[in-house]
Amino acid sequence: MSETVVIALDVGGTGMKCALVRPDGAVHHEERHPTRAERGPETVTENILSIAEGLAGRARADGLTPVAAGIAVPGVVDEASGVAVWSSNVGFRDVPLRDLAARRLQLPVALGHDVRVGALAEARLGAGRGRRHVLFVAIGTGIASGLVVDGAGYSGAHGAAGEIGHVTVRPGGQPCGCGLRGCLETEASARAIGRRYAELTGESGATAFDVATRAAAGEQLAAQVWRDAIEALADGLLTAQALYDVGVVVLGGGLAEARDGLLTPVREAFARRVTFHRTPEIVRAELGDTAGCLGSALLALDCLGTLA
Ligand SMILES: [Zn+2]
Repeated sequence: MSETVVIALDVGGTGMKCALVRPDGAVHHEERHPTRAERGPETVTENILSIAEGLAGRARADGLTPVAAGIAVPGVVDEASGVAVWSSNVGFRDVPLRDLAARRLQLPVALGHDVRVGALAEARLGAGRGRRHVLFVAIGTGIASGLVVDGAGYSGAHGAAGEIGHVTVRPGGQPCGCGLRGCLETEASARAIGRRYAELTGESGATAFDVATRAAAGEQLAAQVWRDAIEALADGLLTAQALYDVGVVVLGGGLAEARDGLLTPVREAFARRVTFHRTPEIVRAELGDTAGCLGSALLALDCLGTLA
């Protein structure tokens, strides 16, 4: 029998990262496609199925045997039943994506949540390698997290675990899209940082990365905005540590591009808050925007394990 690969798709609000991955985690082939969420969930679903089919064909053309597929999507995902329950940016409402893909591909398929599978990849192949308890926190437009214990992700009773972005860190603060106020996401996400900086300076268009760069260069308003965000982030991480007591916190997403400009002050702000907590290592993600795709591949490999 020829060598095997799994089909991996990470479906985001704007783009899909897709790959053929070998059992050892090596990427054989990669491609990217637009999600075209504006065309509606039926079109997105059909897109996903035909791209997965195309990848299976590509594998066979390369003399490889596709043995399973993993698909990661954003929103609320019921991994156990393989249903994309709800997603604001892709528009899914109770789409039985796992079974649809399994039927189309005639292969076992696993469905996962984008940030939770990213966490899986960072825990097993990236910055959390060799650690038993890993919390991955993705800080971009929003903030979400994934807890991985002994190499397995935790998804919760309803597929909604890890929403650290909606932990209240500033009671009565900015309104959040979720309906609450003062959520971590409204105080420390890349979008929140850009918005706050624009409010204070009247200059719109500066990204969170720009704010970090200007803060490092000594610009006062940028430093203030950056510091406020770091303090809020440390509050959120302290809550997470009180709940999970992890060995390592892996910070990813766009904000982690600020590297030590993020890590150093977050570690300091965290250390100032610690009382009974055990301090985790706080490190930067290693896999960048391929984490979701690699994590989907791991899910696919894991589902073969449970079927064997
Ligand atoms: Zn919220």
